Amino acid sequence: MKIRVDYVPGTAPQQLPSHPKDVHAQSDGRFQCPRCNTSFTRKNNLHNHLKFQCGQQPRFNCPYCEYRTKHSPNVRTHVRRLHPSQQVYVIDVLLHKNLL
Ligand SMILES: [Zn+2]
Ligand SMILES: [Zn+2]
Repeated sequence: MKIRVDYVPGTAPQQLPSHPKDVHAQSDGRFQCPRCNTSFTRKNNLHNHLKFQCGQQPRFNCPYCEYRTKHSPNVRTHVRRLHPSQQVYVIDVLLHKNLL
């Protein structure tokens, strides 16, 4: 006789993102991201980080080299310092736009 198995524990459906383990405060009162180990002083900041930042690719690119960052002002600073004779602008990789 064959036993039909409808549900195997431990095999989560593919489309569900792997859920981070429950977050606990560290001994120094900081909250640490279980994925990348960045720590935060507030639990809210960690939740925002997990939602919007963690694992995301930096979206702002320097037009003149490989430099990439998550914050567009960093590119402007970078261009002024490393490419002083060039026009200062930022490539938004996500929207495929140049930000002047
Ligand atoms: Zn993280
Ligand atoms: Zn550059």
